[in-house]
Amino acid sequence: MLNSNKFDVIIIGAGIVGCYAAGALAQLGYDVCVLEKNAEAGSKSSCTGIISGECLDLFPAGRGAVQFEAHSAKVFSPSGQYIRIERNSPQAYVMDRPSLDRCMALQALENGACLHFSTLATSIKVNSQSAEVHATCLNKPVVFKAGIILIAGGAGTTLTRDAGLGQIHELAQGAQAEVACKDLPEVEIYSGAAVAPGFFSWLVPTGKSHAKAGLLCRGNPRPYITALLSRLEQQGRITMENQDIKYGVVPLRPLGKTYGERLLVVGDAAGQVKPTTGGGIYFGTLCAGMAVTTIHEAFSAGNLSARSLSSYQKRWHKMLKEELSIDYWAHRFYRGLDDKQVEHVFNVIERHGIHESILTSPDITFDWHGKVIFDALKYRSLQRSLEKLGMAPVPSVADGKPHKRTA
Ligand SMILES: Cc1cc2nc3c(=O)[nH]c(=O)nc-3n(C[C@H](O)[C@H](O)[C@H](O)COP(=O)(O)OP(=O)(O)OC[C@H]3O[C@@H](n4cnc5c(N)ncnc54)[C@H](O)[C@@H]3O)c2cc1C
Repeated sequence: MLNSNKFDVIIIGAGIVGCYAAGALAQLGYDVCVLEKNAEAGSKSSCTGIISGECLDLFPAGRGAVQFEAHSAKVFSPSGQYIRIERNSPQAYVMDRPSLDRCMALQALENGACLHFSTLATSIKVNSQSAEVHATCLNKPVVFKAGIILIAGGAGTTLTRDAGLGQIHELAQGAQAEVACKDLPEVEIYSGAAVAPGFFSWLVPTGKSHAKAGLLCRGNPRPYITALLSRLEQQGRITMENQDIKYGVVPLRPLGKTYGERLLVVGDAAGQVKPTTGGGIYFGTLCAGMAVTTIHEAFSAGNLSARSLSSYQKRWHKMLKEELSIDYWAHRFYRGLDDKQVEHVFNVIERHGIHESILTSPDITFDWHGKVIFDALKYRSLQRSLEKLGMAPVPSVADGKPHKRTA
């Protein structure tokens, strides 16, 4: 294959987003090649793999990777009080992330895409005439040529900077370990500065005897994951079967420009991630679908210019930009609170049953937090509480305009 290395589309990264795009493009008849630096798909992932049913529907081939259906969750305040949320139908699915990525990689292969593992893309060169990826494969330099390059290299990639599109600097850090755990019936989420500054930590069941214990935080996650695991071990809730802690990062802001001459950026590399939870599988995959549509249109029109590909950014901004800004505002709000203030907000929500009212609202969804945040902020008790804390509401909320989600 290394002798004939010219493709319609080269995708950098065989993560969930890259593989989804590869499968869809190959199905449309494009000659697609995916370059992945690791020896297999998903092997290094630290992701918990919690997704909604809406998101699971995007991966029919990945249904076998569901480990647990979550109907309920307990959210703990810094002092250890908790709010329990429950619904009759599953609200989220915990996926075996490496296995989901492998399923998607296999599907891309079956659709006719070509996957090069152990191939690190080191630089890209794009202009109006050509697009090239310079890579090393088993320590040998290789050049791949393409009509279009799709960067799906995940959070922290520097390839976007090399392509003149800048780089995302605001990142949260994460860590997670698989642990043995007796009969954990539901997801548990813990808050507090000592637990996970700026974010939260979790214990998520993956079956009857195992769970994922992890966290996202600002700064180095190492001391926090060590503290989480020893606390849960001391409480007799978990046992560590091995010391394999995986680390990762999550972008908190989208990249300003996600297209260029013969170039698109998608998934974590583009910052298409919910800053409230760090969840990026759903939005990244939705955007991969929009990238595929844009690429198909560009090839059909014979125009692979930046101008032609700019419709990708218009598309995903229309669907996600406002949602991501409200989520970012909520993240900033939460991160600006100290434990006493978190406790205060928690008490207001609990006392006024705000979580229950919102949960029974017919249009609450696992993925679209902007609407939930907006609905919560309409409660006078919460508004008063925020005013006391000196926190200004998001502009669309202050204006009294409902947040619209457009498809
Ligand atoms: C601790 C933690 C928990 C999370 N939990 C959830 C969750 O429960 N639900 C959720 O929706 N999201 C979660 N996320 C976020 C989720 O993991 C990402 O949003 C998602 O993986 C993004 O997919 P992607 O394909 O864009 O990137 P990735 O999954 O990161 O894939 C990128 C791929 O590109 C490869 N690559 C990178 N650079 C190169 C290169 N130069 N050359 C070749 N290959 C390259 C990488 O090896 C990787 O395989 C979590 C993240 C963390 C850190």
